[in-house]
Amino acid sequence: MGSITLSKVTKSFGEAQVIPPLDLEINDGEFVVFVGPSGCGKSTLLRLIAGLEDVSSGEISIDGVDATSLAPAKRKLAMVFQSYALYPHMSVKKNIAFPLKMAGMDPAEQEKRIANAAKVLNLTDYIDRRPGQLSGGQRQRVAIGRAIVREPEAFLFDEPLSNLDAALRVNMRAEISELHQQLATTMIYVTHDQVEAMTMADKIVVLRAGHIEQVGSPLELYERPRNLFVAGFIGSPK
Ligand code: ADP
Ligand code: MG
Repeated sequence: MGSITLSKVTKSFGEAQVIPPLDLEINDGEFVVFVGPSGCGKSTLLRLIAGLEDVSSGEISIDGVDATSLAPAKRKLAMVFQSYALYPHMSVKKNIAFPLKMAGMDPAEQEKRIANAAKVLNLTDYIDRRPGQLSGGQRQRVAIGRAIVREPEAFLFDEPLSNLDAALRVNMRAEISELHQQLATTMIYVTHDQVEAMTMADKIVVLRAGHIEQVGSPLELYERPRNLFVAGFIGSPK
């Protein structure tokens, strides 16, 4: 459960091939960080895995099953958006319940999952508030809650902390790492922040112009960067 394999995946927008043939193996329960400069294809790769974009060629399999032509909702993956993607007119509870309601889930099961997510994320006391009455960190937790209740095989994060201030970012990093420990679910986390990559990842995928420069643990990349680009991008861990 939660393993994802990309085989010879490519993506073009019109004439421009932004992802040349790419192979990648993500193991169940891994915390994988995609890192690289702006425009290198991190979001595109995540959206291909999520099914929000179709591959131009190649195959994506999830748990050993070809998912290439499956709709996003059928992939059992949950994308965590930035906190501003919450519905401002709905309570925390309704925001978290939204994907379950859309899926037509039994109300008792919905209640159970919402209560569990609220507990895991320390949101129980805020469950009836609206997003506007929450701090930035609390809002980000609600956005994560909306993914947790779906009980996905993997969580996909696209720069989830980039609109938070520096201090809060450090806290949320720790919270997401702790959540990963607790849930032991595969997480793919996109960032252009080297420190985030080095401190959170089991495995870092360094991207440049749509291709993988190197894959390895933070220590491997730090001690044995394959080239100057990787060395320059990884920098020193803090
Ligand atoms: P990153 O997330 O690493 O900043 P993106 O995946 O957003 O990079 O973009 C990779 C490249 O693909 C960029 O050159 C970008 O302009 C291009 N791109 C992304 N989405 C589209 C799209 N929908 N149409 C055309 N080009 C796109
Ligand atoms: Mg991006």
